[in-house]
Amino acid sequence: MLPLDPQADPGRRAWIPCPRCRDHQQCEPCQEQRTCPTHWRYLLGNTGTRLHLQCRTCTHVWTHHTHFGHTPRRR
Ligand SMILES: [Zn+2]
Ligand SMILES: [Zn+2]
Repeated sequence: MLPLDPQADPGRRAWIPCPRCRDHQQCEPCQEQRTCPTHWRYLLGNTGTRLHLQCRTCTHVWTHHTHFGHTPRRR
């Protein structure tokens, strides 16, 4: 497990499913794409349309590409 990024700030959150642990899959608010009180990610920063995120469940760090008008691609 990675340590929590020093830029991780609970005040900056993003509701994007974690591609590693997928802990949102059994969760009702997440499935309905509501702002789940449990499954939010740390928003470490962003560069243009890329969001740098860290999961607080498994500490996975990844970059989420936001393309307006497209659904996010899954890896
Ligand atoms: Zn995770
Ligand atoms: Zn959830």
